[in-house]
Amino acid sequence: MTASIIDGKALAGQIREEIARDTAEFTAATGATPCLAAVLVGDDPGSQVYVRNKQKACGRAGIDSQLYTPPANTATEELLALIDRLNRDPKVHGILVQLPLPDQIDERRVLEAVDPVKDVDAFHPENVGRIVQGRPRFLPCTPHGILQLLHRNDVATAGANVVVVGRSDIVGKPMAILLMQRGAQGDATVTVCHSRTRNLAEVTRGADILIVAIGRAKFITAEMVKPGAVVIDVGMNRTPEGLAGDVDFEHVKEVAGRITPVPGGVGPMTITMLLRNTLTAARLQTA
Ligand code: NDP
Repeated sequence: MTASIIDGKALAGQIREEIARDTAEFTAATGATPCLAAVLVGDDPGSQVYVRNKQKACGRAGIDSQLYTPPANTATEELLALIDRLNRDPKVHGILVQLPLPDQIDERRVLEAVDPVKDVDAFHPENVGRIVQGRPRFLPCTPHGILQLLHRNDVATAGANVVVVGRSDIVGKPMAILLMQRGAQGDATVTVCHSRTRNLAEVTRGADILIVAIGRAKFITAEMVKPGAVVIDVGMNRTPEGLAGDVDFEHVKEVAGRITPVPGGVGPMTITMLLRNTLTAARLQTA
C-alpha cells in the first residue's frame, strides 16, 4: 500500500486566501493594515530566503511588511534598541526575529524584549506560559501549521497515540503541549522522544501519528513506522541531492497511511500561520 500525500502547499494556499479575505475585512473596518517587521541579523543565505518568502506571503495576503537587516557584528544592546523602537511603533503589529542569531547576541534577552502582543512567533515566555495553560494569545507557527494539516485532513488527534521526535522550543516541545491540551484539536496521548531516548524505533512504531523534527536527513526509516500511521515530516535538511526531510520518504510511504512531503508539507503551513498571527496581533492592538 502506498500512503496518500498530505498536501501542505494546497492547504496553505486555501488558508492564505481565507487570511487575505479576513485581512481585507479588517482593513476596511479599521483603516489599519496589519504590518509585520522582520529582523534579519547578518547575511546567512538560508535565513535570507526564509525572510524573503515570509515577506512575499505577507504582500499577497494584504499584510504590510518591513525588513531590518543589522550587520552580523551587531551587539545585543543595539538589537535591543531596534526591538524597543519596533515595540513602540504603532504601525508595526508583529515582530519576527529570524533565528539563529550570531553567537555574540544574547538570543534569550532579545526574544524576551519583544512586546508579547507583537510576538507573532510565540517565543516570549509569557506567550509560552499562556499556551501551556491552554489560553493562548498566539499559537507557535510550525506546530499550529501541523494541527491545521491534521484536522483539515480529518486526522483525529483525540485519543490517538502521537509520538513527537524532537524537543526543541520551536517545534517539538510546543507541538507536544498543544496535542495534549483538552479539546478536539488535542486530547492526544503524547510521547516525546529525543537524542537520549532508548529503543527509539520501538516507541515510534507505537505511533498512530508520528511527528518528526530532528534535523537529520531521512533518519526515520520504514521499520520505525507502524503500518497505516500518519507521518508528519518537519525536517528541512540541505543535502547534495537537494532538500530532504527527516523521514526516508520513498520507503516510509510504502508503510504509512498518510504522509507529508518535503518540500510541500509543513513548510508552507508555517509561513501561513505567521500571517494568521500577524492579523491576530493587529486585531489585538486595534481593539
Ligand atoms: P533542533 O536542532 O533545535 O532540535 C532537534 C531535536 O532533535 C532535539 O530535541 C534533539 O534531541 C533531537 N534529536 C537529534 N538527533 C536525534 C536522534 N538521533 N534521535 C532522536 N532525537 C534526536 O531542531 P528544530 O526543532 O529547530 O528543527 C528540526 C528540523 O525541523 C530541522 O531540520 C529544521 O530545519 C526543521 N524545521 C522546519 C520548519 C518548517 O517550517 N518546516 C520549522 C522549524 C524547523 P536533544 O534535545 O536530546 O538534543
